[in-house]
Amino acid sequence: MEAFDAQDAEYTMDAAREVLGRYFGYDAFRLGQEQVIRAILHGSDALAVMPTGAGKSICYQVPALMFPGITFVVSPLVSLMADQVFSLKAAGARPAYLNSTLTPAQQNTVLKRASEGWYQIMYVAPERLEDPRFLAFAQAASRPGGIGVPLVAVDEAHCISQWGQDFRPAYLQIERFVRSLGKRPVVAAFTATATERVRTDIEDMLCLNEPERVVTGFDRANLYFGVEEMGDKAKARWIRDYALEHAGESGIIYCSTRRTVEELADELARGLAPARVAVARYHAGMSVDDRHANQESFIGDRAPLIVATNAFGMGIDKPNVRYVIHHNVPESIEAYYQEAGRAGRDGDPASCYLLWNGNDFRLRRFLIDRGDEADVDLDQDQRDQARRNRYRLLGQMEGYCRTTGCLRSYILRYFGDSGTLGVHADVPADAPGGQEGVRRAAAGAPEQRTVHGCGNCSNCLTSFAVEDVSKTARAVMSFVSAHAGRFGKTVIAEVLHGANNEKLRSLRLTEDEAYASLADVPLARIKDVVDQLCGSGYLEVSQGQFPVIALGDCAGKAIAAGDAFTFTIKSRAARRASGLRARRAVDLLREEAVGSGRDRVGDDVELFERLRELRRELAAEREVPPYIVCNDKTLRGICRLRPHTREELLGVSGIGERKADEFGEAFLTAVIAFEDERG
Ligand code: ADP
Ligand code: ZN
Repeated sequence: MEAFDAQDAEYTMDAAREVLGRYFGYDAFRLGQEQVIRAILHGSDALAVMPTGAGKSICYQVPALMFPGITFVVSPLVSLMADQVFSLKAAGARPAYLNSTLTPAQQNTVLKRASEGWYQIMYVAPERLEDPRFLAFAQAASRPGGIGVPLVAVDEAHCISQWGQDFRPAYLQIERFVRSLGKRPVVAAFTATATERVRTDIEDMLCLNEPERVVTGFDRANLYFGVEEMGDKAKARWIRDYALEHAGESGIIYCSTRRTVEELADELARGLAPARVAVARYHAGMSVDDRHANQESFIGDRAPLIVATNAFGMGIDKPNVRYVIHHNVPESIEAYYQEAGRAGRDGDPASCYLLWNGNDFRLRRFLIDRGDEADVDLDQDQRDQARRNRYRLLGQMEGYCRTTGCLRSYILRYFGDSGTLGVHADVPADAPGGQEGVRRAAAGAPEQRTVHGCGNCSNCLTSFAVEDVSKTARAVMSFVSAHAGRFGKTVIAEVLHGANNEKLRSLRLTEDEAYASLADVPLARIKDVVDQLCGSGYLEVSQGQFPVIALGDCAGKAIAAGDAFTFTIKSRAARRASGLRARRAVDLLREEAVGSGRDRVGDDVELFERLRELRRELAAEREVPPYIVCNDKTLRGICRLRPHTREELLGVSGIGERKADEFGEAFLTAVIAFEDERG
């Protein structure tokens, strides 16, 4: 089989940049994009591992718009196809999709126009690759003299691996499909899933031919990570206050159960009604129609807030989600990063908060012990194995909640990514707290000495007090060594503190020699020390719903040291001034105004609101989500540049030729009218 022979002369990177500007209105490729596109244009296969929001679509869309013939994009996310096609149309391209949401008659029309060579790019679900009519079309297209199939892009390529969580058997057919084509197209695979195992699977199963491997870091520099420990009631209050403070911005609140979704959504709806912030909800217990309606009002910015279980989000591509708050602890770091990562896809600052307390872990352990429906086919050994695995994942999640180190580093270590920080935020490098700020902070440059670690997570922005708790630690360990594996954290702390309750009396622990030996240390502090001893390997917590504590691997050392054993813990002290946390549109406008030496911030904010309203109207007329018209960053660009002519408008990032044609007049008129009013 012969590879698609792109003629280098025709497909230069300059031509690619021209296409990027003309269709998408961007003036530069981001890190990673350039490498992938160059490879594809030279006719070589590619495997791109890039995090959400890094801009994977551009990597295959730009070549698709340059090559003659039709590019196929295999994607499992049927709900996203229509969106992508709308966006590409709005950019002036000729896209199509083929999936089960079209009627047979519509599918006929699409195939007919496709064989006439009308489309440049076609999205298909993997199941479609087996459809005889589609196959006949694709094979005819790829034969000599046909319209040509230069490129097959495989989106969400990890779906091909049984090791990932989203395995789709239909993905296994992609390779056969490619082989059945007359002339082998370039094959480019894209995923945000990191593990080595999955990457190898993708290369093997797609039979990629010496692919160009592009792995950008997993860091999302524009995301702020925060962890807050608080009681159940406080969580709802905290979220309400946050939403009020950020009214007008879009956010997702994740809860672990349907019931919590209902209760929290009701409470937030009441609390936010005075501010006229609508709250949508989403969980698998709702009817399909209700779910759809709620999702649509969230995507259309009619309800800026959605409270949901983890059933929500797959296939949601809303770029301007400014915050994701977890009301409960998810089952693993991987799940957490995926859900939290739905914030800030547009590259603007966004925040991810995890609210937690001990109940979250009790619930999680209960769910693990109860077993998963998916496990019914497993034998006892396999089930135990699965259970242990889930405990391990939950343990890492608990580590995230409790660590006093940098949260971002914790996550990146989990993904085995110690490399690049901040590769794709389009924050101007010189903006206050911009990308450069993150890099410098990460590198620990002297001028940033006040900021530790990433400088953009709650731990890096908190100063911790170091406290010597050796006496408490020794008392805890000696009690545990006398009663190893019998009691949990609460009982241990209560005995040492000297609590007087029925449980201790019935266990005759009030008569224990250690009883009340730490009467002067607060109960919560003793528990804290127990936690940190567990985290450091001196103690060990059993797995299960009612975990008990025994001596850990390092205990021998500590006991041998006797009174000489010292142990210090870090506790949260006063918070530092805020760092790079998510800033609102207003703040960004202010920073941009300062950056360009202008002084009309109040003005910019008003114009921004007006343009936002205009965008909502333009979107409603066309029955598409507002972000298809343009994103927030583009609106801010208009506020900053105040274009009066089409040429000037084209200078705004995100405005290409086609968008200037379609929306230009509306935006220009709005800007001019606004300035006239101001005199
Ligand atoms: P992914 O599929 O990797 O999650 P997307 O392809 O959805 O990411 O892109 C995320 C956002 O970044 C989109 O709003 C997209 O228009 C924008 N984007 C992509 N490439 C660039 C670029 N070179 N310059 C500016 N914005 C870009
Ligand atoms: Zn940090």
